[in-house]
Amino acid sequence: MNVVVGPHTDTASGETVRSALTATPGLVDSHGRRARDLRISLTQACTLRCHYCMPAEGLPLMPREELLSADEVVRLVDVGVGELGIEEIRLTGGEPLVRKDLEQLVAAIREHHEHLPIALTTNGIGLARRATALAAAGLSRINISLDTVDPAQFATITRRDRLGDVIAGIDAAVAAGLQPVKINAVALRETLSRAPELLRWCLDRGLRLRFIEAMPLDADATWDARTYVTAAEVLAVLGEYHDLTPVGRDDPGAPAELWQVDGGPGTVGIIASMSRSFCGTCDRTRITAEGRVRPCLFSDDEIDLRAVLRSGGDDADLARAWRAVTWRKSAGHQPAAVLAHPRRSMGAIGG
Ligand code: SAM
Ligand code: SF4
Repeated sequence: MNVVVGPHTDTASGETVRSALTATPGLVDSHGRRARDLRISLTQACTLRCHYCMPAEGLPLMPREELLSADEVVRLVDVGVGELGIEEIRLTGGEPLVRKDLEQLVAAIREHHEHLPIALTTNGIGLARRATALAAAGLSRINISLDTVDPAQFATITRRDRLGDVIAGIDAAVAAGLQPVKINAVALRETLSRAPELLRWCLDRGLRLRFIEAMPLDADATWDARTYVTAAEVLAVLGEYHDLTPVGRDDPGAPAELWQVDGGPGTVGIIASMSRSFCGTCDRTRITAEGRVRPCLFSDDEIDLRAVLRSGGDDADLARAWRAVTWRKSAGHQPAAVLAHPRRSMGAIGG
């Protein structure tokens, strides 16, 4: 089967690119990076409407047949792990808990890949009922998003009054043994002064908090390079209340820089996605809910793996298409000051 690879911007001749691509195993790009971390979006529907991600009305509803089925997701994970050297996966969205088949999907991936780390990023709504089943199905790790523990502020940010459900989900994840539970908080101007309160709340529960700089991936395109909250600002506010000692990174490839809080054992992480570029060590590859590989959050260059799947492509065809779009991944994105909003917002890509 022929896979359409599409245009790319490499200056090398087509022949040189083809032979370099054939000679290098795994999911490599032309700048020498290898993708090991696969993020799969399971839906772009969501139970919240966070203003830095979704429009108030939500993203357009995707007909069920456009979404990858659980079997198709498992097949792509098999190809990623078996043919392309993927070493860990994360299920995300939209809100992955919207998928009623999530437990079955995790169990099916686990059945094929006994030792593969399988992580979930979720807003926590509905998790209270499902955390035990997800852990039993073979989920390895969980990240739950929470920007504030103030109910009114939570409702303003997410446009939904659901803080209690999120906290119940966090408690259930801890009770189900999905340790360590990590909390993702987007650094926002309106919550900055309350960052120490959120940290205290997390430390008291043994949760690992990580602040993430907001990226220009909001559906309303209001992100502004002059006003987003930087990692340095978060650190300065936390530093007014705590002694923070740098302790390096979560792991060498991970973008979160960790600080020990007041001599430990608690830590806080900060992901400076905008004020520092991680492009040079990027090891991520993403698949959208409708089965398009998107090597870079900020580039609209994608390839349609679902079309390859549904037209009877075999594993080699899928691997070839995936490798082709990865090969042409650009070296890095534009600096924050000139970075344009990509066509898709975070909820439509899979964060
Ligand atoms: N709905 C799930 C959740 O909120 O955890 C999973 C999908 S969400 C897109 C994944 C992560 O992306 C969340 O931690 C969220 O806070 C983060 N996120 C969304 N929009 C963002 C933006 N514009 N900049 C930085 N992080 C963002
Ligand atoms: Fe939904 Fe997650 Fe986006 Fe919030 S960040 S709107 S919870 S997908």
